[in-house]
This record gives sequence, C-alpha cells and structure tokens, in this order.
Amino acid sequence: MSQGTPNDFQAKVEEFRRLYVKPEIGIVSADPMDGNKLSVSVSDWSAMGKIPQPSSEYRGITLVWGFHVPDGVALAPGFQVQGPAPAARRNHSDECTCSNCMKANQHLAKAKTLSQANKNAQARRQLTTAINMLEKLRPLGENMAGAYVSMCFLAFGASARTKAKRRQNMLDAAAWYEKAIKVWEQNGNTESLGGNLTNLGSLYFRMGDLETSLARNLRGLELEKAKSKETLDDESFNSFNHVAGCYLALGRLDEAEATVRDCFALLGDNKPSSGYLWNTLAEITKARAEQYRKRAEELVPPNSCSIG
Ligand SMILES: [Zn+2]
Repeated sequence: MSQGTPNDFQAKVEEFRRLYVKPEIGIVSADPMDGNKLSVSVSDWSAMGKIPQPSSEYRGITLVWGFHVPDGVALAPGFQVQGPAPAARRNHSDECTCSNCMKANQHLAKAKTLSQANKNAQARRQLTTAINMLEKLRPLGENMAGAYVSMCFLAFGASARTKAKRRQNMLDAAAWYEKAIKVWEQNGNTESLGGNLTNLGSLYFRMGDLETSLARNLRGLELEKAKSKETLDDESFNSFNHVAGCYLALGRLDEAEATVRDCFALLGDNKPSSGYLWNTLAEITKARAEQYRKRAEELVPPNSCSIG
C-alpha cells in the first residue's frame, strides 16, 4: 500500500482550502472519525458550482464528493477530501474492467448464485472475499453497498437454535446494514438511503433498541422532508409513522403526537395512508389515558374512595 506522508496530505489540504473553500462557501474541519479525512461543510449551496470537480492533479489523494441533500442552506451539504489513499484506490469504479475489479465482480456473482440456491455458508465465503476486495478498490461504489446488504440478509437468515443466537444474528445483520448506510451517506445516494434507513430502524425496533431505532428513523424522515412536495408519497407517511411509533414506544408522547400532526399538516389527514397515522394517534391517546390514570392513583390517598 503506497501512502503519502501526513505532510503531503496537510500540504494538499492547505492548497485545497486556499483554492476552493472560501469562508463564504463553507468551513473545513477534521473528520472526527478519521484523522486522514477532512470534512467540508458548505453553507452556500449555490456557491458549490464554483468548485471544480476534483482532478488528477491531486495525486495520492482521492477526492470524494459526498453530497447530502441540498435542503436550502441549513443542511450543510458537504464533501470530503480523503487521503492519503492507497494508490490502488484511485480510478476504480463499479464499471471498471481492470482484472482486480472483474475478480471482485465474479465473487459477487458467485455469492448471488449460491445464496439463491440456499448455500449460505458458501455464499458467505464468496461475499467475504468480494467485500475485502471492494473495500480496497471502490469503497464508495454501489456494489460495495450492495455487498454489505447481501451480507446483512445472510446474517439475518442464518440458522438460530437459541434465542441468544437469534439476537446475535440480528446484531450482525444490523452491523452490516450500518456499513451499507455509511456508503450511501458518503456517496450521496439519498435515493437508497431513505427506505433502507426505515428498514434498519425497524430491525433495531425488533431488537428492542428503541433509541437507535429512533435515530435511524429520524434521519430517514429528515431525508424524506427534504424532498420536494411533489415527490412525497406513501413512503413519506411511512417515515413519519415509524418516527411516531418510536417516540410512542419510548413513552415520549408529546413528540409522538407532534410527529403525527406534522405529517397531517404536510401530507394531509384524509389520504388512504393517513389511516396508519390516525391509528398511531389512537395508540398515543390510549397511552396518555393510562398515564393520567396512574397520576390519579398516585394522588388519591390510599384510604379514600376507590377511583377505579
Ligand atoms: Zn478496477
């Protein structure tokens, strides 16, 4: 693996900052997850057009454009300068026909055939090889995300004789799914993010990890709300409903109700899909009634007339 020295990287970073990132466009900050990465938050989306596409003059540094949804100026769409990168990481894509990329694709294809034939252990081995190759060749490609999702399904469907193993399978599945989500967050494929965040949120919900479920569902809803009004659909109702359901399960009833009301205000309360939200509102109201009853029982002295 050939890597530039930290000083090379720092010099390129300074050059990048000087040339392209004017204070009125955005801010440059170190990526807290990876000391070799820079995050650039862009506050003026229209100014992004003035930043040229990364070019080969950045030898040894791969520039990765990871746009978030341009939701006005508030969402701070950004991109990353990533480096120092292994030389092998440059120029590969899902369409690349170099021998390494073709080999990775062959392992992917074999894994697919094997898992269709329910030969899951063999499928897993092929997929593991493919993933190891793709992580070096094209870590932000759609094939990379797809491979992680396939691994997620294999983990989820793995045999489990005990409850503990079943739970471990779900944890494994969620961990693979997180990796796919991370690819889409970084390569800017918001199309894939939405529905998959909801799926992942449901997986955490089933595992009883309500906080994480809420976090993933909130991110899904954020993306959904960033869409233009014309493209909101049944999926959008679904996003609201999952968030409301998480708040409800966590006993955060005010936020649950506010989410339902938000949905009604944005999408209407009289559509076929609104019914699911009405049902959630009924559940919220029921939970509230129980809270009130509990409070009543706390306040009435034990020797008074029963309030049952
Ligand atoms: Zn290649």
